[in-house]
Amino acid sequence: EDLPHVDPATDATAQALKYVNDAAQADRATNARPGLPPDQQRCAVCQFVLAETGAWRPCSLFPGKLVNENGWCTSWTMKAG
Ligand code: SF4
Repeated sequence: EDLPHVDPATDATAQALKYVNDAAQADRATNARPGLPPDQQRCAVCQFVLAETGAWRPCSLFPGKLVNENGWCTSWTMKAG
């Protein structure tokens, strides 16, 4: 993919959703959502990620950009199925 990576330092949506490229750096316990233990919540297993593989993947909340498979934001939602 040639799309730009989401930059947490400059992207307004990233800042609103507290997106980080490394979920381990996020306060997932405080923001925990149902479906998985907080320390397992990351982009690769989120309902909104739009690819099954790849270190950087599209996300429906970040049109035209890519998120890290090990990233995280406060909209994390357990992937269905
Ligand atoms: Fe990652 Fe899901 Fe947030 Fe997209 S919505 S940035 S896939 S946690």
